[in-house]
Amino acid sequence: MIEQRYEELINIINKLNYEYYTLDKPSVSDQEYDRYVQELIKIELENPDIVREDSPSVRVGGKVLDGFVKVTHEIPMLSLGNVFNEDELIKFDERIKKEVSNPKYVCELKIDGLSVSLKYENGKLVRGATRGDGVVGEDITNNVKTIKSIPLNLKEKINIEIRGEIFMSKDVFNKLNEEREVKGEELFQNPRNAAAGSIRQLDSKIAAQRKLDAFLYHLPEALDIDIHSHYEALKYIEKLGLKVNPNIKKVDNIKEVIEYISYWTEHRSSLPYEIDGIVIKLDNLDDQQKLGYTAKYPKWATAYKFPALEVLTKLTDIIFTVGRTGQVTPNAVLEPVKVAGSTIRRATLHNEDYVIEKDLKIGDIVSIRKAGDVIPEVVEPIIDRRTGEEKDFQMIHNCPICNHTLIRKENEADYFCVNPNCPARHIEGLIHFVSRDAMNIDGLGERIIEDFYNMGYIKSFTDIYKLDDKKDELMELEGFGEKSVNNLLEAIENSKKNSLERLLFALGIRQVGSKTAKLLAKHFETLDNLMNASFEKLNNIKDIGDIIAQNIIDYFKDEENIKIINELKDMGINTKYLGVINSENTNEYVYNKTFVLTGSLETYTRDELKEKLESLGGNVSGSVSKKTDVVIVGSNPGSKYDKAKELNIEIWNEEDLKNRVK
Ligand code: NAD
Repeated sequence: MIEQRYEELINIINKLNYEYYTLDKPSVSDQEYDRYVQELIKIELENPDIVREDSPSVRVGGKVLDGFVKVTHEIPMLSLGNVFNEDELIKFDERIKKEVSNPKYVCELKIDGLSVSLKYENGKLVRGATRGDGVVGEDITNNVKTIKSIPLNLKEKINIEIRGEIFMSKDVFNKLNEEREVKGEELFQNPRNAAAGSIRQLDSKIAAQRKLDAFLYHLPEALDIDIHSHYEALKYIEKLGLKVNPNIKKVDNIKEVIEYISYWTEHRSSLPYEIDGIVIKLDNLDDQQKLGYTAKYPKWATAYKFPALEVLTKLTDIIFTVGRTGQVTPNAVLEPVKVAGSTIRRATLHNEDYVIEKDLKIGDIVSIRKAGDVIPEVVEPIIDRRTGEEKDFQMIHNCPICNHTLIRKENEADYFCVNPNCPARHIEGLIHFVSRDAMNIDGLGERIIEDFYNMGYIKSFTDIYKLDDKKDELMELEGFGEKSVNNLLEAIENSKKNSLERLLFALGIRQVGSKTAKLLAKHFETLDNLMNASFEKLNNIKDIGDIIAQNIIDYFKDEENIKIINELKDMGINTKYLGVINSENTNEYVYNKTFVLTGSLETYTRDELKEKLESLGGNVSGSVSKKTDVVIVGSNPGSKYDKAKELNIEIWNEEDLKNRVK
């Protein structure tokens, strides 16, 4: 009986390992996976005579994909042992204390990415490799070179291997998935899988677009260069010019480890990247050697895993919302429940097929998880808890806002409200029009658009540009004074000068995301050229498929759309691509971006740089906020640098600046 369960568990875990490590597409949550592994380990401890040599409990990671050159790790890249609660952590400390008196630890965030080994020869990056099965990994040098925070040259000309974690920030992950959703591509389940899928691309152009990042945390041969403390090794890695996580802490005892864990259990969601636990490492490297390794992990370190982010709650209703393209989405209404510190009341159910596939019924007890720590997701209904009172899900066939008949196109999963006058579509469309990557009008947030719509000030895109006629009335509104109205009107006026790609994205043509808009703007240079383009001409552009080409044709065939475009033109909104027309005066890295400067630079004084950036079409602001696009960091940067890192804003050093601003 126990043998049978043992075999079953090995098969399950091997299948899950393959999905996770080789395909980057897990089918269960990490907690569920960990539960299987714990069950397996328990059986092995209680029945040592049945333990198989090829048990997943003694093997690291996954298989190497064909297509990559294989790399052998001279020093194996191991995994980490796990602890799941305070008791297990104290036992870990007791085991260490049998060998080492008064151990000091280094606590680190366990970055949820994938490990990488970097090899530098004479200070030059010569190889990047994945962990693979611990002994044989994949050569990913070309992709690693696209990661901006990994320097191609170290500050010292030495031969050294440095290991760490490649990851994707939450922001980049969310943007990537939004773009994939628009293009109808399969979504990544979480930032880890997105990072792993990106770094294992045979085409490094794709990897480069994914904006990966890396923290380094291990020098396997530190003792050879006379470094005897892990903490010192981290400082040295930093000195070489690599990025080390700023939240690492050296502590004196296990009590302080526990304090560190409880701090980060509470604050983890404020980090711009995901962590799935805390890594605790013995600081003294000679003592580390004394303790040694098992086949799978070092005995001098362990990973505390955060408790499950999956909880049960009731699905009380399924309601429908209408987006700006008219897309109708079913949403789960949940009995409020706390997951990872935030209360979840709603979760998107994407479309009819998704609800049917998950077999959700109204009234079901469902498990909820915060996928990627950010977006709440309904995992599955708990079938055993059904009472028979649950109601079947019914897709609606009329718009919940305007009652217009919904349309589902062939081969598409989504239903659409096609009534151009549907108020829900209008409000969402207006919110999109002013958003940051579109016309970028500061001061017109979602709430204000909704209020202005309901008050009759803004019913269409063109009304935004007529707001200056209503200046006196606006100043009377609660929360608005002369200054904020002036600022708003100035932001609106400035948006008239945007380059064509922003307007194209803002119009909300189906499946034309900001990237496609840029592509079109570059290619056609003026809105008129684009409007006159044939299906074939559009379709011939790389990355513009049949569907997008047809959407563009349909959009410009609609008389209502043409009317709006003509009105926008009459109001002085620019319809030209400025990247080309003003190529001497603008710079694609700078144009329309907001910069913040910190620290001192060798090449420019602050004022000179400010003037330069502004002359290239950029803005320079004094403080870092979510609206900042780039922070330029010189030597001795101030708190703006920390804030930029916290908000995950793009950072340029002097070298980046030189490369981008000639
Ligand atoms: P692990 O993720 O539990 O821990 C080891 C890894 O942590 C290291 O290899 C390294 O990449 C990483 N790490 C991050 N920050 C670190 C730091 N500061 N210092 C040292 N290492 C750091 O082990 P693993 O072998 O990579 O993977 C096992 C885990 O993967 C499971 O516990 C589970 O969470 C997940 N998994 C899930 C599935 C699934 O189907 N959902 C399948 C397989 C594995």
